[in-house]
Amino acid sequence: MTRGVIRGFILAATMSAATLAADTNEDILGTTESWTKDGEAAIAERLAYKINKKRAKNVILFVGDGMGISTLTAARILEGQLRGESGEENYLSFEEFPNTALVKTYNVDSQVADSAGTASALNTGTKTRIGVINTPPTQMQGQCTADTETAVTPLAYYAEKIGMGTGIVSTARLTHATPAAVYAHAPLRDWEADSDVPAEAKAAGCRDIAQQILDPMMGDGLEVALGGGRRNFQPTGTGKGKREDGRDITKEWMEKGKGAAYVETTDELKAVDLTTTSKLLGLFDNSHMQFSAGHSAEQPDLSVMTETAINMLSQNKKGYYLMVEGGRIDHGHHAGSAYNALNDAVALSAAVKKAVEMVDLDETLILVTADHSHVFTMAGYAKRGNPILGLVVEAHSDTPALAGDGKPYTTLGYHNGPGAVPGERPALTQEEVLAPTHLQQSLIPRNSETHGGEDVGLFAIGPRSYLVRGTMEQNVVFHIMDHALDLRKRAGVK
Ligand SMILES: [Zn+2]
Repeated sequence: MTRGVIRGFILAATMSAATLAADTNEDILGTTESWTKDGEAAIAERLAYKINKKRAKNVILFVGDGMGISTLTAARILEGQLRGESGEENYLSFEEFPNTALVKTYNVDSQVADSAGTASALNTGTKTRIGVINTPPTQMQGQCTADTETAVTPLAYYAEKIGMGTGIVSTARLTHATPAAVYAHAPLRDWEADSDVPAEAKAAGCRDIAQQILDPMMGDGLEVALGGGRRNFQPTGTGKGKREDGRDITKEWMEKGKGAAYVETTDELKAVDLTTTSKLLGLFDNSHMQFSAGHSAEQPDLSVMTETAINMLSQNKKGYYLMVEGGRIDHGHHAGSAYNALNDAVALSAAVKKAVEMVDLDETLILVTADHSHVFTMAGYAKRGNPILGLVVEAHSDTPALAGDGKPYTTLGYHNGPGAVPGERPALTQEEVLAPTHLQQSLIPRNSETHGGEDVGLFAIGPRSYLVRGTMEQNVVFHIMDHALDLRKRAGVK
């Protein structure tokens, strides 16, 4: 039995007593005095807030892929409940940051966005089409043009140009849309290995995403890259390699020199001497890394990868740009599994906490956002402390509430996805819905649940984080990072 499964069962067994107590327990309900005191403390904190106008030395951008607002609320409750608390009063680590905004995520040609267009907006400062990596809005998806790799410049390129360190961490394949937007250009996000690129695109000069991880990017290239997707870097005939050009990008990475290292497991990662390593590539799975809940110890946690990347990059006196992606929140949702999506969101919160503990917030700007949302809802009138993955049990009741069809229903659900039930809904038990394998019911049948089109949150702390406020277009996130670092100015961009 995996760790996550055990935790799920403990939760189910212990919460029913706690939820009954919620109806009368003052620790959970609070008192008029305690709510007033807490409200006044929140005002005092805001009045004491000091704006930091200094230039940032470092920027860390955390992206929870698909981590919409409803995901944040449900994940904060789950995180609290995993500690044996009621949950609703909890804050994810970054929800305590002083500056917050709403972000409009649409792509220039799509009302509901994908990760490629949105990650491009975050990294280049210009919105673009759905499905493309760092190409201009005028360039068609899949169309290879001569200036594909030069028309727009990602933030990490400017950072490299002025000698800053750059890095990526993701639980997804490093060739997947969000991490790819840090270092690569491609008119189609699917061109992860050379075998994915059509012959005519290759003839027109377009390259696959994986090989671009070796690019100097106007400097000496990425210092650290940790995640999944080994198959796109290795040739066919070696394990599960997908490359048909015979190249082994992991070997070529090692040819970067004496300080280059390549690792595939947690133990290998922990054995790396960071003081003598200048270029670190870690590929911990052939495809995406495992979901956080119950993952194999051979694969490092998002927190461990984040810690390693910060330790490496902070040796650079000129500062660094690091993007960290919780890449599989999105995949949990697409599969209709709130269990996996939320546990991965909790893992992202832990990684942000780790970063906050490690850096000097007087010189490091930390931003946390999502690329887009999902059609994930939290509904019904569950009582305080009701298991967030469970059936709705209302206040003053000890039995699940019944829907119009006389059957119980879960708090969490999806508008569409694989959890759709043709015809009559089955009657669910609490034990069934709390099982890690449970897929929440949904209305519209689809093999893959879809992204949602509403705004996402942006949370910020550190120098010039006061720029994060109001409702903004997603490309503005780049401009906040650029301004915080005075980056393009220092890189000589007019
Ligand atoms: Zn997605």
